[in-house]
Amino acid sequence: MGYTQEAIDILKKNGYKITKPRQIILKVLDESELPLSPYEISDHIKKMGETGDVVGVYRSLEILEESGIVHKVLSNGKYLKCNLKLHSEDQKDSHCHHNLICKKCGTLKEVDCVGLELFERILKSEYSFDVEHHALEFYGLCSSCK
Ligand SMILES: [Zn+2]
Ligand SMILES: [Zn+2]
Ligand SMILES: [Zn+2]
Repeated sequence: MGYTQEAIDILKKNGYKITKPRQIILKVLDESELPLSPYEISDHIKKMGETGDVVGVYRSLEILEESGIVHKVLSNGKYLKCNLKLHSEDQKDSHCHHNLICKKCGTLKEVDCVGLELFERILKSEYSFDVEHHALEFYGLCSSCK
């Protein structure tokens, strides 16, 4: 099953309507290797002959992000499709994701969230801080650039 279809199934499961704009955004992100800004997504949609006003695109992206099927890149506010294959069936719609971002070629790779429990435990014991969630991305060189 391709990304777009799988993402639509997850949206349905979460009780969201499958509107045409949401479907088109998923398709645009599916076809893009690199993350796209809401403006770039809107441009793609217009090129397809559909209406894709930026405000609507923003709103749709928020819903898609809540459902865990698209992710926002923290450093530039762009969006990319979730690597759904990475997540097990029961955590597809709510998962912590982290990106490895190559400084040379710009590719992003989503990786599983591992090893942060220890850090969060330290934050609790040292600073008496209860972490609810975290946001983090990693920069460096990918396997083909180094
Ligand atoms: Zn993901
Ligand atoms: Zn690279
Ligand atoms: Zn995480």
